[in-house]
Amino acid sequence: MKNNKDLRGWLSKFELDHPLVIAGPCSAETEEQVLKIAHELKNTDATVLRAGIWKPRTRPGNFEGVGALGLKWLQRAKKETGMLVATEVANKDHVKLALEHDIDILWIGARTTVSPFIVQEIADALAGTDKIVLVKNPVNPDLALWLGAIERLYTADIKKLGVIHRGFSTYEKTRYRNNPEWQIPIELQNRFPDLPLICDPSHIAGRRDIIFDICQTALDLNFDGLMVETHYDPDNAWSDAKQQITPTSLIQMMEDLKIRKTTDTEVDYRNALNTMRTQIDVVDHQLIEMLGKRMKISDKIGALKKEKNVAILQTRRWNEILGKMILEGEENNLSEEFVLKIFKAIHQESINHQKNIINS
Ligand code: PEP
Ligand code: MN
Repeated sequence: MKNNKDLRGWLSKFELDHPLVIAGPCSAETEEQVLKIAHELKNTDATVLRAGIWKPRTRPGNFEGVGALGLKWLQRAKKETGMLVATEVANKDHVKLALEHDIDILWIGARTTVSPFIVQEIADALAGTDKIVLVKNPVNPDLALWLGAIERLYTADIKKLGVIHRGFSTYEKTRYRNNPEWQIPIELQNRFPDLPLICDPSHIAGRRDIIFDICQTALDLNFDGLMVETHYDPDNAWSDAKQQITPTSLIQMMEDLKIRKTTDTEVDYRNALNTMRTQIDVVDHQLIEMLGKRMKISDKIGALKKEKNVAILQTRRWNEILGKMILEGEENNLSEEFVLKIFKAIHQESINHQKNIINS
């Protein structure tokens, strides 16, 4: 993708002194609900009202959205509050209806980004639009699929593009509903520094109590905006009740978040440093997680050796691992001395794990 469009242009037009805040309910439920939340959000940092009207639910039988009717409610909310309005589109009919109702921001959901067929259909329906289009990451941690969707929209001559990071589903249970895997948006940001990047902490978290921390990490990583699910009565929301926050909590959160503004070179320097430090934190977190995974496998090997009554230390296998890692180390610009040190420590920890299992 050649970057000859002013991709950040639409974002700078907001002239905000804080990140772009998109807020609103997971789903539009009734006209009264949409108008009430819009009026409450008007007094916050949010400039865009979000509400899903076509809801892709994982299992059928749950509330699946109010459909096209909700577009009129969004139009009315826009007229009454002056906020821009945003909704999710998942096929060409949604796009047609959303454009007819002058919806300002259309986003492509995580379940749609996984399908190049549907993304292409949406891109064709949107071709040449001057509306803002945001692409959520696919549900699975696949950067190429995310990039592919962006490229399809870019090729359809959509000038106001951006992306939303909403985390990735995992088979293993984690503290998140959708694992942030920050290294993926960081990689995207490195490839397309001009593409506005928005974080959706609500779908990453799946619960209220960790939304603040996710927002702070996103801001430390230089994200341009936040999309936060907000409801005046979160517990009784018709979808995603556990992760929505009230407009009052949103105001408090925006006050408490450390927002870095780029105004002078000293600030630029500190921002750059901060971003890189947060990137390092992300990688360190992955390192510890990977080491934990490695030791879990050692535990299993220990159990197997115990069953078969085999010695823990297998010198030949160990020398093979070392030789391979030294070569891979070289390719990654790591000295032999460093690789040896690290792997000696890993090996020792692994032996300790196996010993514990054998003696248990
Ligand atoms: C949503 O924003 O309500 C939504 C359904 O999000 P996602 O596509 O990220 O699951
Ligand atoms: Mn939701």
